[in-house]
Amino acid sequence: MYSVKEIFYTLQGEGINAGRPAVFCRFSGCNLWTGREQDRQNAICSFCDTDFVGTNGSGGGKFATAEKLSQTIADCWPENGGGKKLTVLTGGEPMLQVDAAIIDALHDHDFEIAIETNGTIAVPAAIDWICVSPKAGSDLVQKSGSELKLVYPQTGSNPEQFNQLAFKNLMLQPMDNEHQAANVKAATQYCLEHPHWRLSLQTHKIIGIP
Ligand code: SF4
Repeated sequence: MYSVKEIFYTLQGEGINAGRPAVFCRFSGCNLWTGREQDRQNAICSFCDTDFVGTNGSGGGKFATAEKLSQTIADCWPENGGGKKLTVLTGGEPMLQVDAAIIDALHDHDFEIAIETNGTIAVPAAIDWICVSPKAGSDLVQKSGSELKLVYPQTGSNPEQFNQLAFKNLMLQPMDNEHQAANVKAATQYCLEHPHWRLSLQTHKIIGIP
């Protein structure tokens, strides 16, 4: 059984794949925050901007089998659409639920599979694009992948501590809070001074898509 908050077709907003059409599958639940506002202050991850509680979002629900979930994801892709199909498994923390069955089923539907994870649970090598967004105060288990996307600035998390890990791309993403303008400036300056890091903007928020 898979619990999914929402499933929707959009453009990837962040990271190296920004602008690429993808079906997002947002799994319910996270291991670093309950998702309830009253628990935020004591959560390991306290700056989350995502609603991952329950299964009541658009396209969400409980899926009894990998085939049912993968078929629902496949149905979101435009008919006769060209290009390689991409799905982004996100959350919440998708690795609480992603297993070999859903990976195989999505590959059978000819999807390239990307995952956005906090990196506290090892990701199967069969996932095609691994994006890890580490959170201060949690144990980083997944230390390699396609991109590491660090929300910046983040108390207790310095970009330098990730320089030696085996990620193909290092992305710095300004934290979206009341200091956003200053955060963008700080992240921009950091990338200019440390050119192995690149700036990741949440372009979906800028253009007003989910
Ligand atoms: S790890 Fe990700 S999904 Fe979980 S609370 Fe933090 S930002 Fe939200």
